[in-house]
This record gives sequence, structure tokens and C-alpha cells, in this order.
Amino acid sequence: MTLGPDPAGRRHGEATVALGLGSNLGDRLSSLRHGWAAVCALAGVRPLDRSGIWETAYVGPGGPQPPYLNACARIATSLEPRELLAALQRIERGCGRPPATHLQPRPLDLDILLFGDRLVREPDLVIPHPRLRDRAFVLEPLAELDPGLILPDSGLTVGAVRAIIRAAGGPPVRPLPGGTLAWDGSDG
Ligand code: ADP
Ligand code: MG
Repeated sequence: MTLGPDPAGRRHGEATVALGLGSNLGDRLSSLRHGWAAVCALAGVRPLDRSGIWETAYVGPGGPQPPYLNACARIATSLEPRELLAALQRIERGCGRPPATHLQPRPLDLDILLFGDRLVREPDLVIPHPRLRDRAFVLEPLAELDPGLILPDSGLTVGAVRAIIRAAGGPPVRPLPGGTLAWDGSDG
């Protein structure tokens, strides 16, 4: 039986998924836009909303790297988490990211941050994303979408976790003026 949209606008069998997009190699803005367009074109995916673009210095392990551009976006999808991960990894590779570039500069990084309220704990897939709560460059754009979004593993809102990370200090995360995932630079 097919049901109409629920009050959150989802169709029957769809989950709302928050994605993180990042790039610190090559034409970063084009890579993010290409990645988002490719996600939107996936069968079983409907784009819902997207943040602006944020820039941050890399301060992680493994030595210096160029600064990152990051954004978050939400989709409604009928795909299962593992199907979505495989599709995202194909898009990363299509954008020139070789496999096994963990902690290295990359033209495109696509992460599943949240998959509805599901908890996944598998060797190569952990949802909520395991490093989400430590990363201002994820929390800032995610809170731009909805600071009231609840992290299902802790019950905390994205806004509350962002406040903790802001208070802790850390590398500055700045909105890129006029930055948008749309190719035409529009906000809509
Ligand atoms: P990060 O995104 O934290 O910078 P990487 O992109 O280098 O790390 O990590 C890639 C690996 O992370 C992939 O092999 C993938 O299987 C694994 N992984 C685990 N959980 C997730 C998730 N929620 N989203 C995307 N990749 C994930
Ligand atoms: Mg990743």
C-alpha cells in the first residue's frame, strides 16, 4: 500500500538522512557542487535542503593539509544505509578520490551523518558518524539546517553539541561568503 507524505513530508518507506560534504584538494567548490548534484541524481534519493559552505583549517592528525570547504545537506531516501554508502563512495571515486585516503587530502568526502534515528555499528559503517560530535565544521552547517535535530545515540540536539564545541575553542570555522552548493550560486 502506498501512503501519502507524512507530516514531515516523507513518503512511505523513506528515511531523512543528513550528509556531510567536504573537499580540500583541487577546485574545492566545484567538487562539492559536483558531489551534491550527483547525490541528488541518485535513484531513490530526493534532495530536501542544504547548508551554506563553511571553510576551516585542517588541524587533524597526519601533518598539515590545505583548508577544507564543508557543507551539510539532507535527503529523503528509500535506500538502505549500506546502499547509500556504496553510492556515496562511487561518487567520491568519480570525483577523483582514490580508495583508502583516510586522513589525507581529498577532492571529495561524503559522509552519512544521520540516518533517521537509526543506529548502525558495523566495521565500515557507523551512524551517527563517529566524529560528528567533535567537528565544528560539521556541527556548524548541520545546525544551520536544524539546531533542534536530535542525535539518536545521545539524545542531545545538534545545537547543544555545537555549543559544547564552540565553548571548547578550536580552529575557526567561517561561512564562505555567498557559498552555496548550487551550480548557479542561488540560495534556493
Ligand atoms: P572521515 O570522513 O571521518 O574524514 P574517511 O572519509 O577518510 O573519514 O573514512 C572513510 C571510511 O569511513 C570509509 O571506509 C567508510 O567505510 C567509513 N565510514 C564509517 N562510517 C561512515 C559514515 N557514517 N559515513 C561515511 N563513511 C563511513
Ligand atoms: Mg568520509
